[in-house]
Amino acid sequence: MSVVENYGSLVFNDRVMKNKLPKDIYKALRKTIDQNTHLELEVANAVAVAMKEWAVDNGATHYTHWFQPMTGTTAEKHDSFISPTSEGEIQMEFSGKELVKGEPDASSFPSGGIRATFEARGYTAWDPTSPAFIKDKTLYIPTAFCSYSGEALDKKTPLLRSMQALSESAVRVLHGLGNTEVTGVLTTVGPEQEYFLIDKEDYKKRMDLIFTGRTLLGAMPPKGQEMEDHYFGTLKPRVAAFMHELDEELWKLGVPAKTKHNEVAPCQHELAPVFDTTNVAVDHNQLTMEIMKKVADKHGFVCLLHEKPFDGINGSGKHNNWSMTTNTGENLLEPGKTPAANIQFLVFLTAVIAAVDNYADLMRLSVASAGNDHRLGANEAPPAIISIFLGDELTKILEAIEKDELFQKQAKVTMDTGATVLPHFFKDTTDRNRTSPFAFTGNKFEFRSLGSSLSVAGPNIVLNTAVAEALDHIYEKIKDTAPEDLEQVVRELIRDAIIRHKRVLFNGNGYTDEWVEEAEKRGLYNYRSTPDALPVFIEKKNIDLFLKHQVYTESEIYSRYEILLEEYNKTLHIEAKTLMEMLQHQFLPALSAATDRYVTLAGKKQALSADISCKAELAQIRKLTAWLEDLTDKAEVLAADIEKAEAMEDELALAHFYQRTILTEMEEIRAVADQAETALPKDLLPYPTYADMLFYV
Ligand code: ADP
Ligand code: MG
Repeated sequence: MSVVENYGSLVFNDRVMKNKLPKDIYKALRKTIDQNTHLELEVANAVAVAMKEWAVDNGATHYTHWFQPMTGTTAEKHDSFISPTSEGEIQMEFSGKELVKGEPDASSFPSGGIRATFEARGYTAWDPTSPAFIKDKTLYIPTAFCSYSGEALDKKTPLLRSMQALSESAVRVLHGLGNTEVTGVLTTVGPEQEYFLIDKEDYKKRMDLIFTGRTLLGAMPPKGQEMEDHYFGTLKPRVAAFMHELDEELWKLGVPAKTKHNEVAPCQHELAPVFDTTNVAVDHNQLTMEIMKKVADKHGFVCLLHEKPFDGINGSGKHNNWSMTTNTGENLLEPGKTPAANIQFLVFLTAVIAAVDNYADLMRLSVASAGNDHRLGANEAPPAIISIFLGDELTKILEAIEKDELFQKQAKVTMDTGATVLPHFFKDTTDRNRTSPFAFTGNKFEFRSLGSSLSVAGPNIVLNTAVAEALDHIYEKIKDTAPEDLEQVVRELIRDAIIRHKRVLFNGNGYTDEWVEEAEKRGLYNYRSTPDALPVFIEKKNIDLFLKHQVYTESEIYSRYEILLEEYNKTLHIEAKTLMEMLQHQFLPALSAATDRYVTLAGKKQALSADISCKAELAQIRKLTAWLEDLTDKAEVLAADIEKAEAMEDELALAHFYQRTILTEMEEIRAVADQAETALPKDLLPYPTYADMLFYV
């Protein structure tokens, strides 16, 4: 099969629909997909038949409603198409009702108290805007997951609601600006995904990686990432083979994997797809993470998606490239050749700036997790402070508007490499700023604070809703304006917004301490950890935002808040207990064994002749004993605090206790253990070291 034939071969995409569906049914379905109209059961029935036939022709025996519970992963329960006949045979059947609605027993998914367990029913509802696909002989139908009373138990439902909110607000503003052809606006997302690949055999020997996804102990090898020789480096054959198969698998599923390369840290890599509508991009990113793990396994690797698998080595993030596109095909964040004169662009740019400034706290919250706490602000990822990088040209345009001056466009500068054989090209007007959490990159914004394992639904729910709100404020100001006054009113509106929100604009280096101080002076939020950030969710201003745009109900917000807190606490509980186990079962016995070796050796030497020196052995014995005692004491303290945590009931207080006390104790233990590790004889090391894992793939 050629690459072109292979692409989307397992997807019930537009081409298949056109082929398989009667014309009127195809039209009705298209209308539902493109204009969000209600789908009639008779259409659903016809689609179900076509879907089943296509799926069976492609080897499928089962179907599943695929959904995204609040855990941030995906869930599925498979039913076969078989239906026994009276002749004792079977038929393959699939009805419109089965396509449209499912009823998984949902009592064990976290619901944060929304759905009392006696009402364990959850419903899945077909999302026709994300195409169905075949994986492992099963037809996967993307669905939303709700309770009996219609409350969202998942990440897709609020995402779709936020896209709808943004569309309505954006269309109103566009009409207000005279762009009346537009009837819908979609948000688009291209998520760049970072990951680590390590050898499966090493992984199996590390209890911490298995239980927590990150190493809790492990000394730095003599060489880390300081030579910067991995970034964009040559792909090793084993990694190249993995990436090749990954691309092929993703292409079959219609995921447009585009770019792949080695990242900064050893064994770290990145994959970026071509962007898509947000809803599809979210589904595809979930699939990408899953397929990465599966293909890695086939190649003898384990794919690590944790935000910080190795201390002292860069962690993994996910860049959420985001923009808005009209149904007439116009990217609303495309500045064009003369951005200063492009009123429509400036209005939408202003809306994004206002949204990020007003709801920076929610944006920070949307990327908060125990794993990501190890990255944000650690000089490898953006700081926890949310600010916007606009680049030189846009900054100058906004300054000119603010001061009511004329913007002088700089002549395009040709790039001269000094070598005549090389082609000449124009320089981009903005350089890149890798330290900014939210950067304008030509015709889209790149939200860079996301952790690698995060579902991209959450950050986009916040972004869409906050921008919808900003657009509503703009609409209020322009709706009663006469066409001849419009330009003046809009210019003033932009000016006001710049003055009000310029505190969130920052083009400098976000990794410096000066910025942290400066940001504090500007009154920007700086929530350093997840427990600090989470209460933001239930602040009145933020609840009001979600309620107004009908993205979350109040109980949906509280349930998510509770789930996030619980998830944080459970994660740290598992980490602390895993560290205790590694100490008790592996590390402390290894230290004792090493001590014993030197004691035995010294004894043998002495037995041989009293005048042979045991100085070296004694020095080792003293060092090892000191570490052993220190670690034993520290482990006792940690064990007592774990017990204390287990008895605590207030989840927020517990989260702070984990973050401030237990995590600190774990880090102190690690500092000692990592020092001791370097003194252990190789054969007594209880698990593969950083050097084994990071430099032998
Ligand atoms: P980087 O230099 O950060 O790697 P790229 O130019 O490679 O950036 O693009 C990164 C991602 O941005 C890709 O997934 C790309 O498809 C996506 N992207 C491009 N245009 C848009 C857009 N209008 N909306 C959303 N994502 C976009
Ligand atoms: Mg990027």
